[in-house]
Amino acid sequence: MTVRDPTLDSVAEKVSRNERLTRDDALALFQSNDLLTIGRLADQVNRRRNGDRVFFAANQHINPTNVCVLRNTCVFCSFARMPREEGAYTRSLEEVFAEADAARDNATREFHIVGGLHHKLRLAYYLDMFRGLRERHPGVHIKALTAVEVAHLARIEQLSVRDVLTAMKDAGVTSLPGGGAEVFSPAARATIADKKLSGAEWLAVHREAHEVGLPSNCTMLYGHVETMADRVDHLLALRALQDQTGGFLTYIPLAYHPDHNELGEALGRTGTATSGFDDLKNIAVGRLVLDNIPHVKTHWPMVTPFISQVALTFGCDDLEGTVVFERVYHEAGAATPMWLSYDQIVTLIRGAGKEPVERDSLYQTVRTFEDWVPGQRPARPEGPEGATFRISHRPPAGARGRRTLPVLQEIASAE
Ligand code: SF4
Repeated sequence: MTVRDPTLDSVAEKVSRNERLTRDDALALFQSNDLLTIGRLADQVNRRRNGDRVFFAANQHINPTNVCVLRNTCVFCSFARMPREEGAYTRSLEEVFAEADAARDNATREFHIVGGLHHKLRLAYYLDMFRGLRERHPGVHIKALTAVEVAHLARIEQLSVRDVLTAMKDAGVTSLPGGGAEVFSPAARATIADKKLSGAEWLAVHREAHEVGLPSNCTMLYGHVETMADRVDHLLALRALQDQTGGFLTYIPLAYHPDHNELGEALGRTGTATSGFDDLKNIAVGRLVLDNIPHVKTHWPMVTPFISQVALTFGCDDLEGTVVFERVYHEAGAATPMWLSYDQIVTLIRGAGKEPVERDSLYQTVRTFEDWVPGQRPARPEGPEGATFRISHRPPAGARGRRTLPVLQEIASAE
């Protein structure tokens, strides 16, 4: 293989020998602009594992509440609200069940349930939700609650994290999503999410989940204040835990969106999301460094379906699914659709010359598409009557009084 950037020569040799990459290798990849080489190497690794298969789940996102006790400290978040703030909502169980029922004809195989850290919602609310969904939709997997939500529930219930996870599993949860990891670097975290659980605590929750038999996903939020070294150390921490537990199913790099949050305003980045170049590089480097995590997913609501389609030849073997109701990233200014139909996903994957495979949460094959006839699946359902699915953007950060971001202040005074 021709390598244009000579700093990647040794990485290319290691990839051809199927050898683990070091910290320096990972840093060289993030620092290189030889995107096509990085992509080709990642594609090579992905093809060894997954051939031409690209997985997707017919999933439905459910966000029970956007009220969050960390609303004023996670400065990158556009989703959360204070309890009485405009746009704040908390769904009753009946509303959650109605939203889930609305997609009944959509062949949903997975509920992806995440939300804010509500000050009053107790563990019983979530357990009743999981049992109710399980009863109403017995064939649908439940992937629920980020490590941050699990730790929050453990704290307000005065239970151990393991007890909360065990109760969730008993109520029907089959896996955990990977949100809340952001970037583990204490310095970056101090700027973007200084009251959120630490990187070590996030990893500890996932370790416990794996030990009680709940596999999980892992993520990294990139494109904000993190350094290339922060990215590398984050990936290496995920790889180290996976060496011990083997419980991560999928790695998902998440692109930071700067609209409607304090961080975007402080950085002067509103309206400027990550570049396609960086989106593809993060997919590819993730595939190359995380040699022990089976799957790498591209999240089309953040990076657009078009970048996601290209990512399928940059080391990615999994495309975010149908979603149905996407709120979290659209609050942050994502200009992508809020959902994709079954047909659109199959067409995107085929358009990249790949073989679509519908999977469940645990990557068991639901169906393949040799005999696929477009237009056979129902389109997105209407929401239940009375429930609000409209996105209402938060007021600009300045309208709420601006908080000083410590690391940004240091950067400004150093310049
Ligand atoms: S990122 Fe999560 S924990 Fe932080 S404010 Fe948003 S919803 Fe709350």
